[in-house]
Amino acid sequence: MTGKIAVEEHVVFPEYEKYVSRAWMSPEMHQRMIARLSDIGGTRLELMAASGIDVAVLSLVTEGVQGELDPAHAVLQASRANDLMAEIVEQYPGRFVGLATVALQDPDAAIAELQRAVRDLAMRGVCVNGFTSSPAGGEYYDHEKFLPFWQCLAELDVPLYLHPRYPLESQRGIYVGREELLGSTWGFGVETATHALRLITSGLFDRVPGAQVILGHLGETLPFALYRMQGRMKALRGSALTKPVTEYLHENFYVATSGNFHTPTLLGALMEMGVDRVLFAVDYPFEEMSEAARWFDGVPVAVHDRAKISRGNAATLFAIDVRQDG
Ligand code: ZN
Repeated sequence: MTGKIAVEEHVVFPEYEKYVSRAWMSPEMHQRMIARLSDIGGTRLELMAASGIDVAVLSLVTEGVQGELDPAHAVLQASRANDLMAEIVEQYPGRFVGLATVALQDPDAAIAELQRAVRDLAMRGVCVNGFTSSPAGGEYYDHEKFLPFWQCLAELDVPLYLHPRYPLESQRGIYVGREELLGSTWGFGVETATHALRLITSGLFDRVPGAQVILGHLGETLPFALYRMQGRMKALRGSALTKPVTEYLHENFYVATSGNFHTPTLLGALMEMGVDRVLFAVDYPFEEMSEAARWFDGVPVAVHDRAKISRGNAATLFAIDVRQDG
């Protein structure tokens, strides 16, 4: 099918290559990925056309400025990245929309940059690659100091894509000797799911009910885990939350198919989240557009639901005018 909008598609700009981890790639693969991340109007556009993808929602590849330890430099890098992203969107009208980069090392600067990116550069949301690095370790966004940033997101009515990154050094002990589990094979999902749970259990969504978060990889396992968590929280610890945890998942989260092209998982996510909360994504260049499209075009989902997942939901969430933007 044609007309798809793919929502977790990555780019890199030359001065940001230093933030792309080499840990899980051979030198040859790293070089190949940098080339694919840097290409915008060549092979990428050809693959999109061949896979029926009209519009790609672009974000700066992990770890991006979340990995920058110098706050002032992070602020500068975020601003530059948004200018570069806006240039791409302008250069290829209708093919791309952008997600902003922000430096939460400085929450006030992140708010100002988010406002600029959305209002002046037409970014349709923001992508953060997990926690923000700090000399003390990492900072997760359930911290009180990030509350004004969440309020700003809700006021601007744009979503936040919570994208994975490697866990903190101090949290890697369980993977010692089995480093193949540390990255996108498994550790990314655990790290991101736990971060999302920190947001939920902190009460963030009671305080900012309009905040919307997107999780890739069909929800980083959360659609399959929260029922049990909900029951055990009630039985063991109680909770100050005003609603069961699954309701926050249903009302404040979207999940995208990036890198999880597996029909039983999709059907389970649809049953838990509902058809309005599932989005098509590839995770290019780490996954192949052709594989994602071939799989999705054959999933046993009703035609009008397929249209919502592949296009309609994303068009609404990211304010993409499908006649103009793709
Ligand atoms: Zn990704």
